[in-house]
Amino acid sequence: MQLIDIGVNFHSKQLRDLTDSLIERAKAADVSAILATGTSIQSSHEALALAHRYPGYLSSTAGVHPHSADAWSAEMLDALGMLWQDDVCVAVGECGLDYNRNFSTPANQRLAFAAQLSAAVKVKKPLFLHCRDAFADFHAMVKEAVQAGAHGVVHCFTESADEARALVDIGLDIGITGWVTDEKRGGALRSAIPELPLDRLHLETDAPYLGPKNANKRRPYNEPANLIWVARAVAQLKGISEEDVAQACSGNSQRLFGLSLSSRPSN
Ligand SMILES: [Zn+2]
Repeated sequence: MQLIDIGVNFHSKQLRDLTDSLIERAKAADVSAILATGTSIQSSHEALALAHRYPGYLSSTAGVHPHSADAWSAEMLDALGMLWQDDVCVAVGECGLDYNRNFSTPANQRLAFAAQLSAAVKVKKPLFLHCRDAFADFHAMVKEAVQAGAHGVVHCFTESADEARALVDIGLDIGITGWVTDEKRGGALRSAIPELPLDRLHLETDAPYLGPKNANKRRPYNEPANLIWVARAVAQLKGISEEDVAQACSGNSQRLFGLSLSSRPSN
């Protein structure tokens, strides 16, 4: 089986000194490629440096998260532009809108997001998108970007079938995290899964966050080696095999981000 984890926050406090062991355990758990998420200029630089340390296994994203949008500036866009030029930086983001706690003002969030959306069209890289409690504004903005030529994935999707369909209909893919294993909070997503087209889904841990509730042994943080538990939950909800989920989602991620996996015997 080959799994691809499209979202790991290696720069987070819990994971930052553990990269080697995380990757070792991920490889042992059938994870054949990982995208290191960049959420700020600093963490996007770190993610790119990591990707160069593990060529062919790690790729990175570069973007500014809506939480940090109050600090957005033209210089930041220039700094991201340098990162996007690198081939191992395979996506624009994490970027988007988050009105849940409004760590940055909604107006500043839209400003930073709009700039990154048009940049993605220009640099022709897929978007790694974040949306929380901002669906109407988010949908309107990404729709315009897609019409201008953008494509991408809405990572850590947590909403219902209606929202998922609205995103899939305009051409975006959907990223599924351990949220899908949470029977309390994940009810809407869990009932959406059977309706979502398998050829539009990606798997991610969003580690160190969102540890899968169905995992039998757990560390104090989530890690890419736990991705199988997300695949397992999707498989159960869809009534198909884990192998089929892994194969379809990995194919989707390879295509969207242009990843070439180093070939290894499947088991
Ligand atoms: Zn996010």
